[in-house]
Amino acid sequence: MCQKAIYPGSFDPVTYGHIDLIKRAQDIFPEVIVAVAHNPQKKPTFSVKERVELLKKATADLKGVTVDDFGGLVIDYARKQKAKVLIRGLRMISDFEYEFQMALTNRKLDPHIETIFLMPHESYSYLSSRLLKEAAFLGADLSDFIPDFVEESLKKKLRKSV
Ligand code: ADP
Repeated sequence: MCQKAIYPGSFDPVTYGHIDLIKRAQDIFPEVIVAVAHNPQKKPTFSVKERVELLKKATADLKGVTVDDFGGLVIDYARKQKAKVLIRGLRMISDFEYEFQMALTNRKLDPHIETIFLMPHESYSYLSSRLLKEAAFLGADLSDFIPDFVEESLKKKLRKSV
């Protein structure tokens, strides 16, 4: 039995979709590391430190879940953590192609590390951090999609950027 799973991603910022997935992973694995990717090429809205802090707050009550960050290849990070499983989410068929390519690339890099896909509850299957940021910019109420403290941070961030 594999003890440790890594859920890597941008989490820019964390949404209820991500949290739903973390809970599902937590039901299967005794240890889940949510790993925030540095990926500066994606020009994230939140810094790594901010994304980690929001995730820590969002997962504070979840036993066995820790939050970390990593630069470089996720496979190298998984090896460093001695984890054999990567968790990724599949919301819709549109996620499939990108996730499929990434999972096969990672398998090529290390055939001993397996990617497992989880589906969120259908009420979160259309949720993405990118769309939420656009909706926040237009003043939408986001309370169904992200925790209050994430919404506050997001609105503060967007006010600063205009
Ligand atoms: P990345 O830049 O690595 O895609 P994201 O934070 O956008 O980072 O997503 C991380 C993972 O979480 C991806 O596998 C993505 O499909 C999944 N994910 C994102 N939003 C949701 C959601 N609403 N429900 C389930 N999975 C999600």
